[in-house]
Amino acid sequence: MSKRIVIAGAGHAAGQVVASLQQHKFDGQIALVGDEPYLPYQRPPLSKKFLAGEMPAERLYVKPASFYEDAGVELHLDTTIEALDRETRSLSVSNGDPVSYDALVLALGSRVRRLPVSGTDLEGVHYLRSITDVEAIRADFDKGRRLVVIGAGYIGLEVAAVARQGGLDVTVIEMEDRVMSRVVSPEISDYYQIEHANQGVKLQLSTGVEGINGKKRVKSVTTSDGEEIPADVVVIGVGIEPNTALARDAGLDVDNGIVVDDHCRTSDPHIYAIGDCTMHPNGIYGRSLRLESVHNALEQAKTAVANICGIDTAYNQVPWFWSDQYDLKLQIAGLSEGYDDVVIRGNPAERSFSCLYLREGQLIAVDAINAPRDFVQSKQLIADGTILDADRLADSDVTLKELAS
Ligand code: FAD
Repeated sequence: MSKRIVIAGAGHAAGQVVASLQQHKFDGQIALVGDEPYLPYQRPPLSKKFLAGEMPAERLYVKPASFYEDAGVELHLDTTIEALDRETRSLSVSNGDPVSYDALVLALGSRVRRLPVSGTDLEGVHYLRSITDVEAIRADFDKGRRLVVIGAGYIGLEVAAVARQGGLDVTVIEMEDRVMSRVVSPEISDYYQIEHANQGVKLQLSTGVEGINGKKRVKSVTTSDGEEIPADVVVIGVGIEPNTALARDAGLDVDNGIVVDDHCRTSDPHIYAIGDCTMHPNGIYGRSLRLESVHNALEQAKTAVANICGIDTAYNQVPWFWSDQYDLKLQIAGLSEGYDDVVIRGNPAERSFSCLYLREGQLIAVDAINAPRDFVQSKQLIADGTILDADRLADSDVTLKELAS
């Protein structure tokens, strides 16, 4: 077993690495190096309950400070890793001596994609990735203010939902012709577009942004149609980019993410990579994936630790995600691209239904809205490659498990 494990990045996946090392009774040294001033924390509530002021910051943390103390973890917070030297097996950092390792776990996550227009540095214009970002957004979220959200992905729409419930006037601008186009099917996009419109959100689809205007503070947003939308606050959510520069500069394989095998090993046997920053093989879909999901971050952390501890373990999971908007909990399992049939179970009007995606009769993905049982059962059926009778699927009185057997 390695004597000294260094975790680069102190986000959600990193927190799980420490927890898993403890579970495996790892008795070597552990060091955690991260550029944020916080212990590892969960990001999903940042655009949901934490933004709404319904969850205190303490509840965001993966583990309390005492956990790291008891585990004897050497903490280097507020510390940027500037370079990785694979010859000497050490990291150069922004403050302090180089940090050396026997095994290194890269858990560097991702960063927000910047919008290439003028005015993004004006007061009142925000991106959303960290606790610090949300504290700044919350301070700007006064009732009656005019918010423009740029990007109708799940983070942009969650922000829109929280803001509407807080009494802000909300406009969402989206370049694509439907919302959440990267993660859900047109059927689900339609449902959410209607929901947001009913809640009073003004949605402008197929619309780009030309610029953000104001002197010191934001005043308006100019769209690609030339329209000027008044704005007191702007939140930009136009995707993320994986943090790969450190790995690439150190000569590791990088291809839209740090390339790892199904054991979370990079092209250097002493270095593992996990979470948002990885491009990893998925046996269920027969191709490599880069995922932005908590489940992937946690499961890859567990896989890397098992292998570091000498237990041969492969990662092969059905991807899953969730999004909370208003009283709608959307749970997505699997990847729907390439489906040739879609079946709706339940009643959209009753705010509880699921959309099942099939390819040649095989269940490949589900989008479940307030339908946790369909979500849980689908996950297993997708993993098993189950063939289902599409004609019987719509009958929500019969569970998916029963249909499969
Ligand atoms: P991160 O949590 O991003 O951690 C990486 C850490 O490494 C960061 O702290 C970063 O600053 C640090 N770092 C990077 N480079 C360096 C360096 N050179 N030196 C030192 N430190 C460095 N997923 C879901 O499944 N469901 C959701 O509902 C959901 N909601 C989300 C809402 C928001 C607002 C956001 C931002 C994300 C959401 N996600 C959600 C995605 C989920 O949070 C990520 O997939 C998860 O955080 C990935 O964990 P990670 O450890 O790989 O990366």
